[in-house]
Amino acid sequence: MALDYHALLNPSQAAAVLQTEGPCMIIAGAGSGKTRVLTYRIAHLLEQGVDPFNILALTFTNKAAKEMRARIEKVVGPAAKNLWMGTFHSVFAKILRSEADKIGYPRSFTIYDTQDSKTLIGQIVKELELDDKLYKASTVLGRISAAKNKLVSVQQYLNDPVIRQDDEAAMRPKIGVLYQQYAARCFKAGAMDFDDLLFQTNVLFRDHADILNKYQNKFRFVMVDEYQDTNYSQYLITRKLAAKERNICVVGDDAQSIYAFRGADISNILNFEKDYPELNVFKLEQNYRSTKNIVWAANSVIKNNQAQLRKDVFSDNEDGNLIELIKAASDNEEGKLIAQSIYEDKMNQHLSYDNFAILYRTNAQSRAMEEALRKLNIRYKIVGGLSFYQRKEIKDLVAYLRLTVNPNDEQALRRVINYPKRGIGDTTISKLINSAEEANHTIWEVVSNAEQFLPARVSNPVVGFAEKIKSYTAVAAKEDAFEAAKFIAKNSGMIEELYADKSIEGLSRYENIQELLNGIKEYVDDHEREDKSLGAFLQDIALVTDSDLKDAAQEGEAVTMMTIHSAKGLEFRNVYIVGMEENLFPSQMMITSRADLEEERRLFYVAITRAEKKLTLSYATSRYQWGNLRSCEKSRFLDEIDPQYINAKFAPGPAVGESPFQHVFERRSNLVATPPRKTVATNYVAPADFQPSDTSNLQAGQRVEHPKFGFGKVTTLEKQQGTVKAIIQFEEVGEKTLLLSFAKLRVL
Ligand code: ATP
Ligand code: MG
Repeated sequence: MALDYHALLNPSQAAAVLQTEGPCMIIAGAGSGKTRVLTYRIAHLLEQGVDPFNILALTFTNKAAKEMRARIEKVVGPAAKNLWMGTFHSVFAKILRSEADKIGYPRSFTIYDTQDSKTLIGQIVKELELDDKLYKASTVLGRISAAKNKLVSVQQYLNDPVIRQDDEAAMRPKIGVLYQQYAARCFKAGAMDFDDLLFQTNVLFRDHADILNKYQNKFRFVMVDEYQDTNYSQYLITRKLAAKERNICVVGDDAQSIYAFRGADISNILNFEKDYPELNVFKLEQNYRSTKNIVWAANSVIKNNQAQLRKDVFSDNEDGNLIELIKAASDNEEGKLIAQSIYEDKMNQHLSYDNFAILYRTNAQSRAMEEALRKLNIRYKIVGGLSFYQRKEIKDLVAYLRLTVNPNDEQALRRVINYPKRGIGDTTISKLINSAEEANHTIWEVVSNAEQFLPARVSNPVVGFAEKIKSYTAVAAKEDAFEAAKFIAKNSGMIEELYADKSIEGLSRYENIQELLNGIKEYVDDHEREDKSLGAFLQDIALVTDSDLKDAAQEGEAVTMMTIHSAKGLEFRNVYIVGMEENLFPSQMMITSRADLEEERRLFYVAITRAEKKLTLSYATSRYQWGNLRSCEKSRFLDEIDPQYINAKFAPGPAVGESPFQHVFERRSNLVATPPRKTVATNYVAPADFQPSDTSNLQAGQRVEHPKFGFGKVTTLEKQQGTVKAIIQFEEVGEKTLLLSFAKLRVL
């Protein structure tokens, strides 16, 4: 039964679906049905009798491919199973498997993941006796990857001074040699890294006309979704494949190009027009996804970009709610308010948690959100990443903390005994384990007496490690959890190790460590908490770090959490974009030029346009950074949204003495079935240079300043077994009882 495309699609969409011959391009705004057109186009081709094996559809994520296949299957049945559909990497890995011998690789070639690649580079750096601080594996891999994605071969790299210019400037003249060695070693090992999957496909098609011809005949119809984010290597592959039949259809949105930092090249869109003068261009202007308010708000933001193809996007949907703006006093409060808003909307509007998504700019931001959701028992899943406490660097630091509190913790010990590297090899570790078993000791007993079990040369680093852990235990006995954790993070070498890694992933790991310390700081700053020790903190997070919980959310409905980058192409009824602050979004790390700022703005545009019915933006006026409370400024992007689309009730600019959010929060609390949570919403913002002062002579009646609660007056001082409790009447948050030894107070 043929589909009625005119009933399912608007006239431009239907035209694009029915125009199956010849090159065609749809560059259109978010939510205008580009992916829908691709889906129906494939269905239509199949209905026309085209063999599914002759259709190639390239998507940006495997998830997108899976969804598209499922949708097509609904329409045309099991034939959809035979479509060639997937990411560039997955499709061409499959092709390379059957053609590998043509380019000298075994068919059973291994695919190195990023970690494998880095380990290999690390080895080569060592063998060449280069400085591994200067030639960080991730930096070197980044350079090699960029070269491969631009199809720069080893020979070109070595011979072209222009290519090497950046390396020379960065005092890394040996990158070319490392590229050469690395490529040779991968080849010898019969291995390809991720970039090779595209690079070698290009080599295959370039050097073997017969093979290219075979795939040109095979893929009579080529389609690419999210075309704006393809890199040069991908562009060339599709151009070559389509060169014969010229049935190629690409869809994308230049306003959603967000991968320039990974080599995506917007000029692929312009090149496309040059490559195919007979091109059919289709315009889609109607957004079917979002309410009018959301579409208008998105338009008002993106028009601030100069480098943009002009597009008018409109929506015929209802106006919908205004965009809500949440102002919170801290990131933890931001988390609480969002968790609470989700809970309320779900209950009041009978929604499923699947209807909600929380989007953030950087992974580290998930911590506060995760903790808040857990407190309200809201299930969540993290797409394209691990939940905070499952991330490697967090597990590493937590392992140090566990070991500090309990040196017999064997799992923790094994995890960090040689991380960061301190020359304790696998053989030494096996020996330690064997000795422990033989002598019926715990592994810690052996480690802390290593000189009795191992020859001096090998035992020295082990003894050094044991000394470190002992010193941590001593620090933790005296200091609160935050001071102890900060000391350990620094002293172990973890911070230095992560700081030196300037890759995107390295940056994200560094931010995560900082975020863990921030979380501990907030933990100890909680005035209601009696025990602020490291042991107490670990106890508190034990539930969150339990990996058994990891997959719980997979079973039922759950709120989706992810970075904006991972949200591309997706849609959710209610969307929260959190951390709308300067230096966070736009990211401080990412903006050194106008082009960078425009990419950040496109990212914001992508985020806004994921929402169907309700969009909420939030920011915190203060956040911890390395344990110091810093005030934050709201993001410039918020000011770019035309204010008429924002719910003014929640807008910033509170009347003196009243926090509008406190008000909102209280209103919300009344609606929720769970007991209202205490919150600290103040207008007070600690000065950046806030320094606590000595409180040993504090007297009742004195005025004090607290970095979180603001100004107040001491009403009573109570001495109890060596500790002093101060009861303070704060101007904004009322009475608080603080332990003087922990409270960071400034006496005025
Ligand atoms: P993005 O730029 O975010 O990738 P897109 O242009 O690919 O968006 P789609 O995801 O294809 O947009 O469509 C957005 C939503 O609108 C989807 O839920 C889709 O089913 C719906 N939609 C698109 N066109 C129509 C139409 N003609 N009639 C009804 N619904 C439509
Ligand atoms: Mg799409």
